[in-house]
Amino acid sequence: MPNQARRIAVIGSGFGGLALAIRLQSAGHAVTLYEMRDKPGGRAYVYHDDGFTFDAGPTVITDPTALEQLFELTGRTIDDYVTLVPVRPFYRLCWEDGTAFDYDNDQPKLEAQIARLDPADVQGYRNFLAFSQQAFAEGYVKLGAVPFVHLRDMLAAAPELARLRGWSSVHATVARFIRNDKLRQAFSFHTLLVGGNPFETSSIYSLIHALEREWGVLFAKGGTGALVAGLVRLFEDLGGTLRLNAPVERIVIEAGRATGVVVNGTREPVDAVASNADVVHTYRDLLADDAPSAANGRRLQKKRFSNSLFVIHFGLKTEHPSLAHHTVCFGPRYRELISEIFAGPTLPEDFSLYLHAPCVTDPSLAPPGCAAFYVLAPVPHLGAADPDWSTMGPIYRDKILAYLEERYIPNLRADLLTCRIFTPDDFKTELNAHLGSAFSLEPILTQSAWFRPHNRDDRVPNLYIVGAGTHPGAGLPGVIGSAKATAGLILQDFPPTGALAEAETIHA
Ligand SMILES: Cc1cc2nc3c(=O)[nH]c(=O)nc-3n(C[C@H](O)[C@H](O)[C@H](O)COP(=O)(O)OP(=O)(O)OC[C@H]3O[C@@H](n4cnc5c(N)ncnc54)[C@H](O)[C@@H]3O)c2cc1C
Repeated sequence: MPNQARRIAVIGSGFGGLALAIRLQSAGHAVTLYEMRDKPGGRAYVYHDDGFTFDAGPTVITDPTALEQLFELTGRTIDDYVTLVPVRPFYRLCWEDGTAFDYDNDQPKLEAQIARLDPADVQGYRNFLAFSQQAFAEGYVKLGAVPFVHLRDMLAAAPELARLRGWSSVHATVARFIRNDKLRQAFSFHTLLVGGNPFETSSIYSLIHALEREWGVLFAKGGTGALVAGLVRLFEDLGGTLRLNAPVERIVIEAGRATGVVVNGTREPVDAVASNADVVHTYRDLLADDAPSAANGRRLQKKRFSNSLFVIHFGLKTEHPSLAHHTVCFGPRYRELISEIFAGPTLPEDFSLYLHAPCVTDPSLAPPGCAAFYVLAPVPHLGAADPDWSTMGPIYRDKILAYLEERYIPNLRADLLTCRIFTPDDFKTELNAHLGSAFSLEPILTQSAWFRPHNRDDRVPNLYIVGAGTHPGAGLPGVIGSAKATAGLILQDFPPTGALAEAETIHA
């Protein structure tokens, strides 16, 4: 007797929501993905302006195997949906004194560049890489896609976390092995990619370096939006339903179980609900009628949240093939700037930037002879500094564009054809992100693993969380891992059905 197919609502079509929806639909359930915006992807939204294609969010794709697995669940292959191409160097790191460092997978090239900055750091780097590989094996391969719903899960992981000095920070860990200040920045800034302060994020996050070395840095042809489109097509090919412009207003709880979602004023019955929306929004707003959940939402509001971002998308009438695809432009300060980004109390005067130049890899993202870019500056979230972004946004934009023109892209402002900005206010209003945080809860040790909101609610047995706000956290590998962890719980509670069940069981 086959198991029964269930109606499962997934709220939000970020990478976490999409990956979960694919896993559940692959397992034979009837999944509806509700997205409040007019396009899927969440932070990976896409803008089409004046012939340019701009990815709104993620551009550095790591761990392609996590994506491939979603297609393999039903015997498909990712290559039939989207093409991922390697990016080399992974990043170009630049400092204001003219130092440039091509961060890459090529060990001799890396070591030669390290030796130019400090020969003693070559061995230090090798030791750091070995540490990073241990953290990767433990923190990502072993624990990156398993749910931490019981305290015993945390206790089981504790000895290894202690061995890896999980209480010490990524920067402190790098500094144990490497003494040159620029190299310390080069091997610690990665936590910023997942909303973590390198001086406070647990040493376990050193794993990001090994993860990049393992599978490289990739880019989807056509942009990250093409990857989102590929995942949506897979989901729909499997029979899933994506509803755009469908904001969920409420999750209905009756007799302790989630029984429905209210969308555009209409109640729709469900057997289970998984929320990919912001965790505070989920508990405080969507579950406002359920007193214990709403109280949980108020508790969550008091947690520490990641920084926000100020993003400028711009198109130029000129090509710039000598730029790297990904450039990190370090400003004059590192530790002090990061401290102000995370703690405020004001918007810092200086900035460090990430510059994305995707046409270096894929010219199709701009009209012939032109190039698309985005540049982002990490900035405090709205709880740490709250400038009036409607007036500050254009001022900050002009300051950043002038800086880029002076140091990286000559004639930028004269060549500008199109430009748009995305501020912390937009994270709040467009994505329901608490405090306009770009990455949800800050990934400090006391908000990680079991200490993060759980993949399954502690009280409502058929309510689940997926995405950056639950274990393991932000970033594409993180949220795709969270989908695997959450799918594992849902499929325990609602076993796979029919012919597809076998495939899901094999790959889960
Ligand atoms: C500018 C930027 C650059 C980044 N760069 C990288 C990178 O290069 N590499 C990387 O790995 N990571 C990167 N990240 C981080 C990564 O993008 C995120 O951690 C990840 O995409 C978050 O996915 P998620 O599944 O948590 O969902 P989200 O993308 O947060 O999506 C949540 C979805 O829920 C929807 N929603 C909210 N409320 C409701 C509601 N009530 N009803 C219906 N829908 C609702 C929202 O509209 C949204 O679509 C970047 C992030 C940003 C902001």
